[in-house]
Amino acid sequence: MLTFENVTFQYKEEDFSIIDHLSFHINKGEFVSIIGPSGCGKSTIFRLVNRLLGFKSGKILVDGAGIESQKHYCGYMPQQDMLFPWRSVADNVRLPLEIHGGFSDGEMDRRVELALASVGLGDWGRKSPGELSGGMRQRAAFARTVLTGSDLLLLDEPFSALDYLTRLTMREWLLEQWEQERKTVLFITHDVEEAVFLSSRILVAESMPITRLRSFQVPAGYPRTLETLKQPETLMLKEQLISLLRRDRL
Ligand code: ADP
Repeated sequence: MLTFENVTFQYKEEDFSIIDHLSFHINKGEFVSIIGPSGCGKSTIFRLVNRLLGFKSGKILVDGAGIESQKHYCGYMPQQDMLFPWRSVADNVRLPLEIHGGFSDGEMDRRVELALASVGLGDWGRKSPGELSGGMRQRAAFARTVLTGSDLLLLDEPFSALDYLTRLTMREWLLEQWEQERKTVLFITHDVEEAVFLSSRILVAESMPITRLRSFQVPAGYPRTLETLKQPETLMLKEQLISLLRRDRL
């Protein structure tokens, strides 16, 4: 689905390449988390995939073709929900369809209605984003990301601003969505437990610059429950990842 081949990127303000000859591959339908120390370049990887940034050398392929020749190949959900306060919830969710173009008003209404219902916000379309709780806003933002129609979703710490209990609920909710939608998800988090709970595979950025991502298969199937995190194999993986990330840190 997504392939990095020797990708190198440097911010022009910096004198080194923060992404340095990085190669990795994500298979169709996987749920893969990227974890690593804050500031190591995880979000930069996303900004390269969605072309907010241009890379210096290498190749980024989606479904085997270079991203520079493609449109609408990924949906991106940033940390903040980025819902426009002057648009209703439904009109926010409708935005990717307007940008995409080619849909009649009726078709857009129909798709938005379905998308809102699928995230449990069927009755909330006419409200303004300010009337929704944090978890509901993130669900609306997710519905908007899904409506990009892309099979590849990039989710950048989507739950980091939520309180702990809402996060737990949102994780379970996201896995249900993933199992229904059958999309490929790439998920950034600094929370090891969140990564283990959600992912089929975890990629660890151990160093800055990022020269490689170390891959760990999560030894648990789906569906997952909080019990999954208590199994000896998943506990061991969690400990292993924590000690890897704490290495070289005081
Ligand atoms: P992460 O997602 O791992 O927390 P980022 O990818 O957001 O990290 O940023 C990694 C590093 O890249 C930052 O520590 C900073 O030094 C640098 N950086 C991020 N954005 C910019 C920018 N717009 N211009 C210059 N440097 C940046």
